[in-house]
Amino acid sequence: MKQDIKEVLIDETQIQNKNSELGKIISEHYRGEKLTVICILKGAIMFMSDLIKNIDVPLEIDFMDVSSYGEGTTSSGVVKIIKDLDASIEDKNILIVEDIIDSGLTLSYLMKILKSRGPKSIEICTLLDKPTGRKIDIDVKYVGFTVPDAFLVGYGLDYSEKYRNLPYIGILKENVYR
Ligand code: 5GP
Ligand code: MG
Ligand code: MG
Repeated sequence: MKQDIKEVLIDETQIQNKNSELGKIISEHYRGEKLTVICILKGAIMFMSDLIKNIDVPLEIDFMDVSSYGEGTTSSGVVKIIKDLDASIEDKNILIVEDIIDSGLTLSYLMKILKSRGPKSIEICTLLDKPTGRKIDIDVKYVGFTVPDAFLVGYGLDYSEKYRNLPYIGILKENVYR
């Protein structure tokens, strides 16, 4: 585990401070409204569970699992729905919570599907944004941290399903995935 991490990029305290900061901004934005928070599995589980503790408006949660094919470290652009939402999002305020946006292909595909279901509003909140990897323009309302072009793991993010339980965001040593 730890021996596979080259560097801790964002530690636990920084993450929790950010959750509190984002929670306040989001609470302000949805004041007087109801909210449905959609967690994109599996990477966003830790972020969404910590984030919603800091959101002070009535909310419901739902989960969606989408996946680009393969187990590699780059997005293929081909996305499939592994698990769809349990509930309808029609006329609801939707906040999509994602772990990291790299090329933007996954979320831009997902936004198209979800917008077609007639939500009242729909916004994206991502813990991490890797703008250097962007292949498609995407409108992201809330960003936790802008990160460099490295492969990151921890706090929900995996490499081949491992490292999700690390409490911080770290850069994976290259020899692990080469
Ligand atoms: P995109 O479609 O924006 O290129 O990729 C989005 C998904 O790719 C993320 O939700 C995440 O699952 C995965 N991803 C992109 N960059 C990283 C990274 O640095 N580390 C990990 N663990 N996953 C990443
Ligand atoms: Mg993800
Ligand atoms: Mg992954």
